[in-house]
Amino acid sequence: MAEPVIITVAITGALPRKKDNPAVPVTPTEQIESTHEAFEAGASLVHIHVRNPDESPSSDPALYGRVQEGVRKHCPGMIVQFSTGGRGRDQAARGAMLHLKPDMASLATGSVNFPDRIYENPPDFVDGLARTMLDNGIKPEVEVFDLAMLYSAANLVKRGLLKDPPHVQFVMGIPNAMPVRRSIFDFLRSEIADVLPKATWVAAGIGRYQWEVNQWCLATGGHCRTGLEDNLRAGPDRLASSNAELVRKIVDDCSRFDRRPATPAEARQILGLAPAAPS
Ligand code: ZN
Repeated sequence: MAEPVIITVAITGALPRKKDNPAVPVTPTEQIESTHEAFEAGASLVHIHVRNPDESPSSDPALYGRVQEGVRKHCPGMIVQFSTGGRGRDQAARGAMLHLKPDMASLATGSVNFPDRIYENPPDFVDGLARTMLDNGIKPEVEVFDLAMLYSAANLVKRGLLKDPPHVQFVMGIPNAMPVRRSIFDFLRSEIADVLPKATWVAAGIGRYQWEVNQWCLATGGHCRTGLEDNLRAGPDRLASSNAELVRKIVDDCSRFDRRPATPAEARQILGLAPAAPS
């Protein structure tokens, strides 16, 4: 029996602009349409950043609310995950939309260098975001950009700030953070099996590594993340011209690894999320 894989589509991100990639959806209407196409292609989870009218990253809860409403309406059962990422937003704003109670939200459990800046996640800030998610019934997706963040996540579980089993994403290929190396990927898998044995996990590869990491995940029982957020610029590293096309690439390759795309209902069950409310 083929094992289901949850395919996450990270539709927009904080970086790519229309001028880098015309396929990047930036208005709520474009985001809902792009998500719907990816959903039809086999994605069961959408990771969302929103943008101001000038395309800069936004924290506006109204924008998040509009996208969530559209996704819930047009993509029945799809898991909605908001980004609490820091690019272009100050710390106070990063959790400002969590009262909208998405199914999930991202939670980086430590600080790390990015190509041009520090991605700052001090311990008290991480605890605060984790607490807000707990209070709002939101399941975090723990973002592991560097090794220590895995153990910080285990520590959050120990302190009751993160429910067990957590869902963890390994992010590989951001310059200055963890490189895309199979030995690191295998080490992360063995470590998570040891320190968070019940956790579910996914890995994301950035840029031209996206597809390679997708295949590693399919082969080793992990879940998959794709989308224009991680594969953003035109040029030789471009894997596809739309979010749906990136999702389809994974779907088409599933059978080679005895996997199949999880339905939204299966994805919810795998992640321990409540069934979708009828729309
Ligand atoms: Zn993101």
